[in-house]
Amino acid sequence: MVSLGLEDKVVVVTGGNRGIGATIVSFLQELGAKVAFTDLAIDEGKSSALGIKADVTSLESMEEAAKQIEEKLGPVYGIVANAGITKDNFFPKLTSQDWDAVINVNLKGVKNTIVPFIAGMYERGEGSIVSISSIVGERGNLGQTNYGATKAAVIGLTKSLAREAARYKVRANVVAPGFIDTEMTLAMPEKVRDKVTAEIPFGRFGKPEEIAWAVAFLLSPVASSFITGEVLRVNGAHYT
Ligand code: NDP
Repeated sequence: MVSLGLEDKVVVVTGGNRGIGATIVSFLQELGAKVAFTDLAIDEGKSSALGIKADVTSLESMEEAAKQIEEKLGPVYGIVANAGITKDNFFPKLTSQDWDAVINVNLKGVKNTIVPFIAGMYERGEGSIVSISSIVGERGNLGQTNYGATKAAVIGLTKSLAREAARYKVRANVVAPGFIDTEMTLAMPEKVRDKVTAEIPFGRFGKPEEIAWAVAFLLSPVASSFITGEVLRVNGAHYT
């Protein structure tokens, strides 16, 4: 039988309480991984995975979460840096607060997620890091200069990290979703959703499960063992 080789591997997912993150959590559990997730708030009883309250904008908070996760589940093999926010506005109207908030969660948050685990991964000589970027990081979008900047930066961070980490046999990759049906995109005005749908050659938004499959592939020590520094686009042919 073919397997992705994720059985009993410890994987951490940030922003796993809802949306794409929650789907990734349950999907990885189905593949046999021991999954922990972090979020600003945890809905008790919603998931059987280990949920830890932690804020990705704080390195201290993520270090404390990492300690708890490794104590309870063991050394972490995989990281899914998924937590992300939008604070959209046209550039001249974008406040410094909204600029900083998005940078802090979407970019600094990715760094703060990886830092507490990377030394252990290097020591053990194994690990796979998957960060969630966005089609907007490569294509741009109206009202999303802050968001687009962070999502492009996550690709830059990953490509450099992949080069550094290769000698330790640790991999770093990016999944760049197109428009996916979650609360984040359901909040878009209907007119905008219809316009975006018309631009997607597949004629629909993606599903969170379609992102989870891509994440599982890139986490897999079997399926993607020689893939690092890559961007896997999951967007129904919605390119530039
Ligand atoms: P959601 O808004 O549905 O979920 C985001 C999760 O991240 C929430 O659980 C949220 O917590 C959590 N979060 C927010 N801030 C923090 C923080 N400071 N620390 C820890 N957790 C935090 O988003 P999606 O599921 O739609 O998106 C997931 C990822 O995919 C994001 O990185 C997003 O940018 C990316 N993406 C999404 C697309 C889409 O179409 N949906 C398209 C392309 C990329 P809380 O509930 O407390 O807010």
